[in-house]
Amino acid sequence: MIKKILIGTHNKGKFKEIAHLLPKKYKKISPFLLKISSPKETGKSFKENSNLKANFFSKFVDYPVISDDSGLCIKYLKNQPGIYSARLAKKKGGFLNAMKFILKKMKFEKNRSATFICSLSFKIKRRKIINVEGKINGKISHKILGKKGFGYDPIFIPKNHKLTFGEMPKLKKMRIDHRFIAFKKLRKKVKI
Ligand code: IMP
Repeated sequence: MIKKILIGTHNKGKFKEIAHLLPKKYKKISPFLLKISSPKETGKSFKENSNLKANFFSKFVDYPVISDDSGLCIKYLKNQPGIYSARLAKKKGGFLNAMKFILKKMKFEKNRSATFICSLSFKIKRRKIINVEGKINGKISHKILGKKGFGYDPIFIPKNHKLTFGEMPKLKKMRIDHRFIAFKKLRKKVKI
C-alpha cells in the first residue's frame, strides 16, 4: 500500500526540501492538491506556528502531516525578521526587495551574524504532536549572491563556508541547512 504524507506548506521551496528529506516510500501530498489554504500564523514563536500548521492540516487527512515554520534571525536587527520572514517579503513586494531592504539597513554594520531556524512538527491524528528545532549559524553577505534556492538564500553564508545558500548547489544546501538538522532530530524521535 502506498503511504501518504501531507507536507503542510504552500511555500514551493520548502515543499521541495521537505519532500527530498522524506523517504521515497511516501507519496508527498501538498495542500494545493487538496485545495486547503494555510492557517493564519498567530503564534509568537517558530514552534507555536509549526504546531499550529500541523494541527490544522491534520484535521483534513487521516495520514501523517509534517509542517515547518522557519525564518532568518539577524543579530543586528534584534533577531528580526525571524517569524516574520515571509511577512517581510510580502510587505516589501517580494524577496528581492526584502533582501535589498536588509542589506541597506546593514550597509555599514560589521556584526553580520545571523541564524536560520526551522521548527518542524509531525502529527498523526489523535496522537501527540512531535516537534523539533534545527538551527544553522552564519552571516549576512554584503551583496545578493546566487540564484539557486529560495527566499533569503542569496544573502546567507553558513558558518565555515564561503558561498551563500543561493550560490551553493541545491543538494549541498539541503544537506546542511536548518531543515535538514531539524529532520535528523525528528527521525530520532519518530520512525518515519
Ligand atoms: P513561514 O515559515 O511560512 O512563515 O516562512 C518562512 C520564511 O522564511 C519564508 O519566507 C522563507 O522563504 C524563509 N525561509 C525559511 N527557510 C528558508 C531557507 O532555507 N532559505 C531561504 N529562506 C528561507
